[in-house]
Amino acid sequence: MPELPEVETVVRTLRPHVQGRTLLCARELKPCVLKGGRPLASLEGAAVSGVRRRGKLALVELARGEERLFLAVHLRMTGSLLARKGLAAATPKALEALAGSRTRAVFGFASGNSWPCTTVVRFDDVRTFGHILAGGERELAAWPFWRTLGPEPLEMDAEAFRAAVRGRRRIKALLLDQKAIAGIGNIYADESLFAAGIHPETPADSLCVEAKDRLFRSLRQVLERAVAECGSSISDYRDADGNPGAFQNSFAVYGRAGKACLACGRSLVRIRVAGRSSVICPHCQRKPRTRR
Ligand SMILES: [Zn+2]
Repeated sequence: MPELPEVETVVRTLRPHVQGRTLLCARELKPCVLKGGRPLASLEGAAVSGVRRRGKLALVELARGEERLFLAVHLRMTGSLLARKGLAAATPKALEALAGSRTRAVFGFASGNSWPCTTVVRFDDVRTFGHILAGGERELAAWPFWRTLGPEPLEMDAEAFRAAVRGRRRIKALLLDQKAIAGIGNIYADESLFAAGIHPETPADSLCVEAKDRLFRSLRQVLERAVAECGSSISDYRDADGNPGAFQNSFAVYGRAGKACLACGRSLVRIRVAGRSSVICPHCQRKPRTRR
């Protein structure tokens, strides 16, 4: 569930906790580290040089001498990165003792190269679909998910969006495809399609240029508003400080099946598109005519 706005919020709230600090201790408590990368402990001793987002990935960038290292965290459905400061874990055992029942990995940071760890970041994950790739540039570049990630919707222009939105696939399936455009999931696909007045089953190729541009503007507006409101909390999502987002209070369609359309007052309905539940207004989002 964490999509672009939620991961962006996690990254923004995590950054002040770890930027410039040294990763003294990294422990995988339950399996969550992807094969193809290195063990978490191999990153110990590196200092955090940046925290950024790419698609739905939170990327912690580290440096150890000349070596550039990464922790790429995919939160998937219920993952969270929770930071706590003002602690003093003097040993790896003391750090591990700060884990909860849902903790799959724990990271201890200090302002220098010596114990104790004064900042702790937990990777908690109830449903355990999340995962971490650790390693250097080579491991990151060899990771198929990373290599095939599509462009960022908030960094592309209308022309690039038109080029990404093509083919016979339904527009919603295409928006959800991380290889086509990165960072969009069910919430922001449904919200932006409603805002643009486009039915999710519309084949991408049948959208005219004006409709594609309208969808691009809607998508950007929805994502920017959601980032400004620190994402949406519908179940477990919390930022790195443990705070929920507020954009769920602004949903026009997501989770509102049976309720009145905010534009026309008719009932919103739930349909299935590309194997995913979708909420639409059948009046404001007209179903495309089928060709015979
Ligand atoms: Zn409507």
